[in-house]
Amino acid sequence: MKNDIAWQVAGRVIEKIEQAGFEAVFVGGAVRDLFIGKMNNDVDVATNALPLEVKAIFSNTIDVGIEHGTVLVLDEGEPIEVTTYRTDGEYTDHRRPNEVKFVRSLAEDLARRDFTMNAMALTRQGETIDLYGGKADIKSKLIRAVGNPLQRFEEDALRMMRAVRFSAQLGFSIETQTKQAAKQLAEQIQFVAKERIHAELDKMWMSQSISQGMTMLNETGLVQYLLGSFHPHQWHNFQANNPFVGWAYLNLISNDDKLLSYYKCSNKEKAFAKQVKQAYNKLQVGWDVLDYFQYDIEVLQTAYDFTCWQGDKLDFDKKQIAEKKSALPIANVHQLVVNGNHFMRWTEKKRGPWIKEVLDAALLAVLTGEVVNEKERLKEWFHDYDKR
Ligand code: ATP
Ligand code: MG
Repeated sequence: MKNDIAWQVAGRVIEKIEQAGFEAVFVGGAVRDLFIGKMNNDVDVATNALPLEVKAIFSNTIDVGIEHGTVLVLDEGEPIEVTTYRTDGEYTDHRRPNEVKFVRSLAEDLARRDFTMNAMALTRQGETIDLYGGKADIKSKLIRAVGNPLQRFEEDALRMMRAVRFSAQLGFSIETQTKQAAKQLAEQIQFVAKERIHAELDKMWMSQSISQGMTMLNETGLVQYLLGSFHPHQWHNFQANNPFVGWAYLNLISNDDKLLSYYKCSNKEKAFAKQVKQAYNKLQVGWDVLDYFQYDIEVLQTAYDFTCWQGDKLDFDKKQIAEKKSALPIANVHQLVVNGNHFMRWTEKKRGPWIKEVLDAALLAVLTGEVVNEKERLKEWFHDYDKR
């Protein structure tokens, strides 16, 4: 696992920082996942060099968040985030430190991190710096706040959501006092920017143990302050390899028109959710040929899954969706061999709304097999149609 390209690249970055006379280590999620035995290609580096000092060492860097101490180093092929050791200063709004202060000691940097499993560092020589018992907590499958959980959640309420998200991703429990603190402060989740909640939910949708996450959302009481339906039984069967599916499902079961805007979903996420909901509703009476034609396969398959997850039985197999779709005479409207101009040529009538009507009828006739998609056949069909 550790031989990954990202680890090698981050290792070279650390080596160069060390050669320049500074200290640098691997930190964060990649170190955690290394001990869990999970892949993580985001290998982050922390250093006592100041951002400008980091930039002086490398020839190709991007200031991605220089005010927070982060410089993206591109020198080694793969981008590596290098962040200067820092503390977070005072918090007054439960979500962002008023200032960040760069510090020269790794211990101070690790103390600002959220959970013990996320507060470990690893040197290039393979020495683990684990000041808060992160390894032991990983072994016991526990998510435990670094320091006083009440204070840590007061500082940044998103951490409560992160605890829940990690519990879903890893199948870990939230340690008793950490969970208790979340229960006490759950209502402060309202102060957190919806974009940050969105990002946590994106990761939650893709998690292995989503039921565990939903249970934790309920047990911490966070659920009371989140828009949408998060009952564990509704999420019992849920699984997704794309976050769009999560938003579409939340939208379907929550029945709240404003939900997707509330969570700052993109237009693409909204469009997918809307289509899936339509296809889902139509599936409750059965899809016709036009439905197979007009919805993308992902939309149809997702609507099929949603129906199953809701505990309803369908009388056909999921793989038949692809079969039905590929058996259609045409796959999109551009494959129809006629257009409005043809119909105009075949009649005396002036341009008007009738063209669209005829085109729709022709499309349906082709899709249902009433007429073959050939110009001569469609001309005959049109003359009959025109007489009706
Ligand atoms: P993932 O694998 O999902 O990216 P991660 O642990 O790497 O998880 P990031 O959001 O990438 O999470 O953050 C990197 C590290 O920064 C975390 O491991 C943690 O040490 C620290 N961190 C991130 N967000 C917070 C926060 N809100 N409060 C305190 N520390 C945080
Ligand atoms: Mg990360």
